Amino acid sequence: MVSFKELGLVNTREMFAKAVKGGYAIPAFNFNTMEQMQAIVQAAVETKSPVIMQVSKGARNYANATILRYMAQGAVEYAKELGCANPQIVLHLDHGDTFELCKDCIDMGFSSVMIDGSSLPYEDNIALSKKVVEYAHQHDVTVEAELGVLAGVEDEVSSAVSHYTKPEEVIDFSQRTGCDSLAISIGTSHGAYKFTPEQCTRDPKTGKLVPPPLAFDVLHEIEKKLPGFPIVLHGSSSVPQEEVDTINKFGGKLPDAVGIPEEQLREASKSAVCKINIDSDSRLAMTAAIRKYLAENPSHFDPRQYLKPARENMKKMYIHKIVNVLGSNDKL
Ligand SMILES: [Zn+2]
Repeated sequence: MVSFKELGLVNTREMFAKAVKGGYAIPAFNFNTMEQMQAIVQAAVETKSPVIMQVSKGARNYANATILRYMAQGAVEYAKELGCANPQIVLHLDHGDTFELCKDCIDMGFSSVMIDGSSLPYEDNIALSKKVVEYAHQHDVTVEAELGVLAGVEDEVSSAVSHYTKPEEVIDFSQRTGCDSLAISIGTSHGAYKFTPEQCTRDPKTGKLVPPPLAFDVLHEIEKKLPGFPIVLHGSSSVPQEEVDTINKFGGKLPDAVGIPEEQLREASKSAVCKINIDSDSRLAMTAAIRKYLAENPSHFDPRQYLKPARENMKKMYIHKIVNVLGSNDKL
C-alpha cells in the first residue's frame, strides 16, 4: 500500500472547491507516453495550473499501470525541477469499471479514481459507486462517479447513443454514493468523431460541420439541484481543424472529424463544471506533428527527431486549453 501523499500527488477535493468558486475548470489530460507526460507537466508549470493526469484502460493496456504510476511520481519531481515549488498534480483513474480495479489503483498511489457505473441500472450504479467511495475515502482518495451515458468511442468505453443525465436523479445519487464529483452527459462525446454528419449542420461559407450545441439547460438544472457540487465533462476535445488539416495534408485520412466548440467549453468552465477531459486533441496534435515531420524529412529515422516536434505541439495545445479555454492558469 502506497499513499499518494508519499508521492507528492494531491486529491481533487481542494482544487475542485477552488475551481467551482473561481469559475474555472481543471484540465484532465490523458497520458500514455513519456512525451505526453513531459508536455503536460511543462504546460502546467509554465501556466501555473493545477492538472489532472489520467490513465484509461487503454493506457494501462498500452503502457502498464505500474509504469504510468511511476511516471506520475516522476511528473511531480519534474515539475519541481522546472521551478514549481508546490505542484498540484492528481493521478486519476479514468473510467474504472470494477471495484477491484479502483482498489488496485488506490493501493498503488492514485489520488483520485473514477468508477463508471453509468451503463448499469440506476440502483446497481449506486451500489458500485458507494462501495468504491467507502474504500477510497478511507485513504483520502477522491471519487468521480457518472450518471447518464456519453456516445462515442474511447479506449474500450463505447456507446452508440447518449442519454442525458436526468437532473431529478442527481441529488439522490450524490447523497447515496457519497461521490466527490459527478460526470454528466449533456452532449459531449468520446473520440475524434463526436457527431455523425447527420447530427450536424454545415456552415454554408466553409462547408465545415457544425455540431449540435451542448445541453446547457440540463447543466443549469443540475447546478440548481446541487449548488457548488463539482461537475465533470468527459469527451471534451474540440478536434482543432488545423491539426486535422495537417494530418490530412500529409497522408492522413480524417474526413469530417468533429469536436466540441471551444466557446461552449469556455462557457461550461465558468459553471459548476470543474474538470474537463481532453484526450483526442493530444492525439491529433501528436499525429499531425509526426506526419508533417516525417513527410518533410524522409531520411530521418531517429524517433527523438519526430517526437520532439510532437511534444512541442502537444505542449502548445495544452497551454492553449489551460489559458484560453479552461482558465486554470495562475492558480498555484
Ligand atoms: Zn470519458
